[in-house]
Amino acid sequence: MDIRIGNGYDMHRLAPARSLILGGVTIPHELGLAGHSDADVLTHAIMDAMLGALSLGDIGHYFPPNDPQWAGADSLVLLDQVNQLITASGWAIGNLDSVIVAERPKLKPHIKAMRSQLAERLSLAPDQVGIKATTNEKLGPTGREEGIAAYAVVLLKKSPS
Ligand code: MG
Repeated sequence: MDIRIGNGYDMHRLAPARSLILGGVTIPHELGLAGHSDADVLTHAIMDAMLGALSLGDIGHYFPPNDPQWAGADSLVLLDQVNQLITASGWAIGNLDSVIVAERPKLKPHIKAMRSQLAERLSLAPDQVGIKATTNEKLGPTGREEGIAAYAVVLLKKSPS
């Protein structure tokens, strides 16, 4: 098989006095996401999808939440490391698609910046990086604004050797 698919999911709790960072973009909001790293839930879901496509485990294995090395880590730096692992294994991203589930703030104005940021970081064209946003119709933890969740799928293709 010269193609592989992976999926990833993550959720982080909303908390005061934290920045809201999604896809490496800081979004103005009165709450941010809590976590050991910068809690960039979208980037985490994408990393897990990349690792999952090659059965390489999950991000908790590579960046354990109890390791002080990753406290406050910029998730884009973690993404670089996962991308290097994928590349070194002889694979490249064909495309990725993702959904962010957030009741607030409105994410539509920030989608383009997130796509550009992630595309640049992964050496992809923006049209290889799908990011969508939806609310949860006020249902469940995301709907009650207790947290923000993200889902991602990634298609990998074997690099020409
Ligand atoms: Mg996470």
